[in-house]
Amino acid sequence: MQIDVADWPMVHTARPADPNDPEIRAGAGLIRPLETAARKAGVDIMLEHRMTAIYREAPNSGRVIGIALDHNGVVRNIRARKAVIVATGGSTGNINFRRMFDPRLTEEYCGLAGMPWSDQDASGELAAMDIGASLWGLFNFTGEFGSGITKPGAIGCQYGYVNVRWHPGSAVFDQARAIGLAVKDWQDLILVNMLGRRFYDETAGHFGYNTYMSANPYEPHSYLNAKNAKYNPSNFINAALAGIGDGHNGGGPIWAIFDADAVAREQWRPAPPHVDADAGFFFTADTLEDLARKIVMKYQRVPMPPKNLLDTVARYNSFVDAGKDTDFGKPKPHYKIARPPFFAAWATPVLHDTRAGLRINARCQVVDINGTVIPGLYCGGESAGGFSMHGLPRAICQGFIAGRNAAAESDVR
Ligand SMILES: Cc1cc2nc3c(=O)[nH]c(=O)nc-3n(C[C@H](O)[C@H](O)[C@H](O)COP(=O)(O)OP(=O)(O)OC[C@H]3O[C@@H](n4cnc5c(N)ncnc54)[C@H](O)[C@@H]3O)c2cc1C
Repeated sequence: MQIDVADWPMVHTARPADPNDPEIRAGAGLIRPLETAARKAGVDIMLEHRMTAIYREAPNSGRVIGIALDHNGVVRNIRARKAVIVATGGSTGNINFRRMFDPRLTEEYCGLAGMPWSDQDASGELAAMDIGASLWGLFNFTGEFGSGITKPGAIGCQYGYVNVRWHPGSAVFDQARAIGLAVKDWQDLILVNMLGRRFYDETAGHFGYNTYMSANPYEPHSYLNAKNAKYNPSNFINAALAGIGDGHNGGGPIWAIFDADAVAREQWRPAPPHVDADAGFFFTADTLEDLARKIVMKYQRVPMPPKNLLDTVARYNSFVDAGKDTDFGKPKPHYKIARPPFFAAWATPVLHDTRAGLRINARCQVVDINGTVIPGLYCGGESAGGFSMHGLPRAICQGFIAGRNAAAESDVR
């Protein structure tokens, strides 16, 4: 039996965890011991069972009494002994759902962190809303703080979240399709929108704050913490969404444009499995005009005008000569884009956390649209709203609170 968490194959590499791998994700170190403890306590973990509904005594009243499950097309109902806890992990993967929070988050924002391994399809929120639950903390989803919507760390692939590269051998590599080109120096490229226009200082990041150590030192209960907050106001998503004006909500794809010299500087290999040309997340051409013409894929709503791209690159190259980016303030642009072949690599914002979800109280009980507790229903983690914090601390604390309170409920009759 495997007992060392480092022995568990990492989902993105299919290899054991390598402590020297900068992309190591140590979540298994948290989850595997919890799994072992749960199994020891007699918990039956039913993999590949999908919760599809939550039942109350009456459709919109009374105690929660159980759930419906789908297992490869076979539907079952399970009666709750004490309570039901929604911990389905959020809603970023559900386009209609996330557009309730921000209509601009249309289908081109398809590079969800965690996908193609783990979707956040809002199934928990939808099932709870069906029995009267309310949403909560909706502003947190797109508020200009935190890492809910991020700049990609790798380009030329659909899933470019900064901290995860999918490698051949991973069980989901057939869906990820490419590793991506990790960007070491954003001076090596420019970012253009669907129309071939720059919109941003490429070396800037995305919103920060509300992550571990972003307020340091931190004094519990003190408003003075705001003075110590490391807030990064760079608005990658807002910049990416701006300036299209074609009557749609989303800003369309963002493309990283670079040349052969950049490939050499970054030591990239712009071919499969590093880039995803087949699905339209990477293009190459010998001229910039041809490159613009080649950018045809399902999220590119309008053709990129070749002249726009040509003009954008010429203007950027003039900034390199002048040593100053008078459009977006990129600190001293370093390199011209001049030596063919030229490349266009997908670099569209990546949706990360869900920060809005079901309304819960301090006991993690789900609350309905009238502010009344739904008896026997709890929620924690990314499916819960009203607590704007990145990641595991929120999920772990709320899971603990919800679990403790659910366990203290009397048995459902
Ligand atoms: C790539 C990546 C890197 C991250 N790095 C960090 C980090 O370094 N530090 C940090 O603190 N946080 C990090 N996070 C965030 C953190 O992983 C999440 O906030 C946390 O896992 C959320 O926990 P959760 O229990 O709410 O949901 P999840 O961990 O998403 O779990 C939800 C579970 O419910 C299952 N599920 C969903 N719907 C159903 C259904 N209808 N029926 C049955 N099961 C269902 C899912 O398959 C999943 O197993 C990262 C996230 C990602 C994606």
